[in-house]
Amino acid sequence: MDAQLLSIRDEVFRRNPGEVEFHQAVNEVFESLAPLTDRHPEYTDAAILQRICEPERQIIFRVPWVDDAGNVQINRGFRVEFNSALGPFKGGLRFHPSVYLGIVKFLGFEQIFKNALTGMPIGGGKGGSDFDPRGKSDAEVMRFCQSFMTELYRHIGEYTDVPAGDIGVGGREIGYLFGQYKRITNRYESGVLTGKGIGWGGSLVRPEATGYGAVLFAQEMLKTRGRSFDGQRVVVSGSGNVAINAIAKAQTLGATVVAASDSAGYIVDEAGIDVDLLRQIKEIERGRISEYAERRGSAVSYVAAGSVWDVNATVALPCATQNELDDKQAARLIENGLAAVAEGANMPCTAEATALFHEAGILFGPGKAANAGGVATSALEMQQNASRDAWTFEHTEQRLAEIMVGIHDDCAATAEEYGMPGNYVAGANISGFKKVADAMLALGV
Ligand code: GLU
Repeated sequence: MDAQLLSIRDEVFRRNPGEVEFHQAVNEVFESLAPLTDRHPEYTDAAILQRICEPERQIIFRVPWVDDAGNVQINRGFRVEFNSALGPFKGGLRFHPSVYLGIVKFLGFEQIFKNALTGMPIGGGKGGSDFDPRGKSDAEVMRFCQSFMTELYRHIGEYTDVPAGDIGVGGREIGYLFGQYKRITNRYESGVLTGKGIGWGGSLVRPEATGYGAVLFAQEMLKTRGRSFDGQRVVVSGSGNVAINAIAKAQTLGATVVAASDSAGYIVDEAGIDVDLLRQIKEIERGRISEYAERRGSAVSYVAAGSVWDVNATVALPCATQNELDDKQAARLIENGLAAVAEGANMPCTAEATALFHEAGILFGPGKAANAGGVATSALEMQQNASRDAWTFEHTEQRLAEIMVGIHDDCAATAEEYGMPGNYVAGANISGFKKVADAMLALGV
């Protein structure tokens, strides 16, 4: 990083004290930008870097709700509207006890560039709450979502800001949020939220899109080395929506996915994970992954402590959460035959792990490129809502596949153009940044 970038970065850190995940995300983008800002002094002249790091608007609000025992509970709600140069703010809501402003800002910052890479007209934003849906009844989740939307509704809209799901926010939560928005505004404004159910404005393929997209991105990376998913030994972390659909797609393409995890432990199934059983346990019963091992019997092991990254793989798909794969685990995976990593989650690999993957010549697809299939399909959902249409599964999946190949090729070509062939991190950061920066220049200060 050159001296000018370094001093802008340090000023961003100073203005946002204690937000370590946000600092990490900013640092990672800035580390790629010197070749771009050298060629384009107009970005620095117009203070694009400083402007891009400052959200356009940040909303923090109280979310009071009543639990089943009649007690009043308080959570904190967030929506960070980061950048609208390319379109309405777009990005998910995360409900998880770890959520605070620094997490929402890291996710929102990543979202700006991810959304730009999709080529769709969407800006970047993110939101959420420190509410923990785990162990709550349906009725409690509903009351929480209604209270959350009672404040959020005034800030969003199909031309303003379009939230969706993320960790802890799936179809059930989007339903309760949409119901409350509709009731308060008296508008059936389908395009205000994405990830809706199929019967009420949702898009086919949206539930599968992030996981499928990450596998499609990895497939394109493997192709550049004359390889495919056929015969790969894959480890996936997580067992939520992204992980389950990544497992399904990788196995369709001929891989064997031998391990998956949740926050309590991981399973190893050398025969290949039974996706239907995993879906039944995690999505329908909302149970723990340990039950998978109990039901499958002695062929499957469950490890209650430790990390799923102790399991050898030729392809690693981290689909759980930020900073879940560190440099020690990266070094071990590299020693044991790893060929490719595609991030299904946002920033799951630490900066040190990513550096090791690059040094070792491992194919590495960063989240803002590899997991962009989810938000890209959200943009397809917005398109269907705007035209009051509903596309077939085949058509929508075809559009997703084209978008993922396009992102891959864009990142690869940009990395090459700026002198870092094969470096998808540089390619994604430079290309994503450039699209947003050019729009910001055109729109004026
Ligand atoms: N939360 C997802 C992401 O990280 C999807 C966001 C969306 O569909 O708006 O990209």
